[in-house]
Amino acid sequence: MMKKAVAKKSVAYTIDLTKIDGDGSFPCPKCDAVISPEDESEEVYKIVDTKVINDELVELIIVCNNCGSTTRLTGFQPAI
Ligand SMILES: [Zn+2]
Repeated sequence: MMKKAVAKKSVAYTIDLTKIDGDGSFPCPKCDAVISPEDESEEVYKIVDTKVINDELVELIIVCNNCGSTTRLTGFQPAI
């Protein structure tokens, strides 16, 4: 089991991806920087924690590189 030893940060915002239309991108709740879960370049945001149940990603905790706020993403669809 992969467990990252990341210091727990307080999560400021929660985004439910099932409530987002389109490709799943959304504006940062604090600074409106467009964050796309498909974007793995880490230019806009950085993944700091993930939660996987039965090989399915259920939760992602990201930090916005622009404003530094922490957001929890939930509502991931099963892998295509
Ligand atoms: Zn931000």
